Amino acid sequence: MRSNPYLLNEVPQFILPKVGLAVLGHPISHSISPLLHNAALQKLSIENLSFNNWFYERVDVKAEFLSTALSKLSESGYLGLNLTIPHKVEALNTVKNLDAEATLMGAVNTLHLKNGEWYGYNTDGYGLHRALLQDLGCDLRTSKILILGAGGAARAAAVKCLKEGALKVHIHNRSEDRLDELLNLLREEFTNSTVTGSSSVCLQESEFEDQDWLVINATSLGLKDTDSSPLFMPCSRLGKKSVVYDMIYNPFQTKLLMEAEQAGLVGSNGLSMLVFQAAKALEIWTEHEISADAMTQAAKEHFAR
Ligand code: NDP
Repeated sequence: MRSNPYLLNEVPQFILPKVGLAVLGHPISHSISPLLHNAALQKLSIENLSFNNWFYERVDVKAEFLSTALSKLSESGYLGLNLTIPHKVEALNTVKNLDAEATLMGAVNTLHLKNGEWYGYNTDGYGLHRALLQDLGCDLRTSKILILGAGGAARAAAVKCLKEGALKVHIHNRSEDRLDELLNLLREEFTNSTVTGSSSVCLQESEFEDQDWLVINATSLGLKDTDSSPLFMPCSRLGKKSVVYDMIYNPFQTKLLMEAEQAGLVGSNGLSMLVFQAAKALEIWTEHEISADAMTQAAKEHFAR
């Protein structure tokens, strides 16, 4: 992998059998997506030599240039793209062919070029679902789910949980406006489900006390070492069979996960979600089954450095 991301005017041209894949964003130098995808491609190429010709890179694309970038990359031999900040939402207006789940989640993180046109998907919900099953043994259909946050990641989580038939979803967010917007959208789409919400100004802690919840942190609170826990009450007051998933993976152990551990609750960080969403994207592009193992190993080695 190049040490610096490509700028749009620098991207290489790929001619079959060479195939380009990339993550687009701004800023983008922090992205570990190339590390994950290239590790998985290396493993895949042991079974199928043609994948030796697939390369995944970072391309720095500012918000206003998404459309230009998509045209240029389709002409330059790129077959698959991931989108991150600031493109995930804007892609809804730029890409014509959208998967239903991406539309419902209000964001696109994966694009696949087919017959000269980009098709948009969102693999975050899939990534979270697989992560919850693998790390915490959660069955969404029988879980009461408390989602912290009402931004893009929370919306993807809520949509996936409700699509999978979650018993109950409660969303807690700092600000009321964003909470209400998300609640209205979910209630309109999932008329047969129970979706409740609370904000810092309207909260009944007693509704959560001594009850078993699957708590998912989808706020950015925890990214800094000095951040407090995003949960409005101590983990020790939740039911003893509650489990905690923090979408944050850097740092590896947030305040929320520390508190969960101290309270004897099983917890896990967001690395597994990151890996599974990436594996799903690679499956879409390669049309091959991708094991997440090589990606997980590469990510763990990276963060251990
Ligand atoms: P958004 O900016 O869309 O949403 C941020 C959310 O965090 C909002 O609900 C916001 O509340 C809340 N928040 C921010 N600061 C605070 C604070 N000080 N106190 C309480 N709440 C706060 O971000 P995303 O939804 O895209 O991402 C959220 C988190 O999920 C990030 O940490 C991101 O790294 C992680 N993530 C992990 C993924 C993975 O694969 N593991 C995938 C995607 C995201 P308010 O509405 O009040 O501002």
